[in-house]
Amino acid sequence: MVHLKSERDIEQLRASADLVGRTLGVVAAHVAPGVTTRELDRLAEEFIRDNGAQPAFKGYRVGSLVFPATLCTSVNDQVVHGIPNDVPLEEGDILSADCGVVLDGWYGDSAYTFAVGSVSDETRALLTTTYESLMLGIAQATAGKRLGDIGAAVQAHCEARGYGVVKDLVGHGIGRQLHEDPQVPNFGRPGSGRKLMSGLTMCIEPMINRGTASVRTEGDGWTVKTSDSLPSAHYEHMIVVRPSEAEILTTFRHIEEALDVLPYEQTPIAAYGQAEAH
Ligand code: MG
Ligand code: MG
Repeated sequence: MVHLKSERDIEQLRASADLVGRTLGVVAAHVAPGVTTRELDRLAEEFIRDNGAQPAFKGYRVGSLVFPATLCTSVNDQVVHGIPNDVPLEEGDILSADCGVVLDGWYGDSAYTFAVGSVSDETRALLTTTYESLMLGIAQATAGKRLGDIGAAVQAHCEARGYGVVKDLVGHGIGRQLHEDPQVPNFGRPGSGRKLMSGLTMCIEPMINRGTASVRTEGDGWTVKTSDSLPSAHYEHMIVVRPSEAEILTTFRHIEEALDVLPYEQTPIAAYGQAEAH
């Protein structure tokens, strides 16, 4: 069942989303060769609690499994749900940091894939394409379109470049629950699936592999890896479906300020809408 949000609800979600964005900004400021994901996790947890919220993933249960950390940290061929550990990051690695919070009963959830030091051109292209696919998906998230329009936009952009689109894991609605209906696949047929309505809040989160789309879960029960050990990238925004253009609730602004990189976010959603029409 889908819960459409009121403007008052969205105000709450905006606050949760903003905190996730600021937390990822703190993480961004510390990503470097030699740093461990456990250190990043501790910084994120402290920042979230200092801001009057709780980590959403820590203690998250799937059956008898309990996620032990604030961040999901997924390095190189890890796709998502990696557990922070004491292995230092190395120059040339990529790190997906996925962060969830709950603030006053409302969830926030966003992910960004960082380059650790300088990465190969091939890896940089994977990051850029994955980010672009997120924005192309968001550009489809307007009232009257369908879920399949989002997935199709992500899939077409990534598969045209020879990348594998992960199909075993999907985005999701979000609100008073971390994972609400509907599921938001990163693949699909244009014009298919549930019709999007204003006030639907969801997380769009393409998980894109340089090689095969096939993934497997490690023995820890959480960490998802690519089957061919090639790297994988993941970006996630929380958005609200609106009549003419989706509103992005989360932000990478703090990350980009910390990294001092060319900000992705200077490109408006409309630019992606036009690119898709060609
Ligand atoms: Mg997430
Ligand atoms: Mg999510």
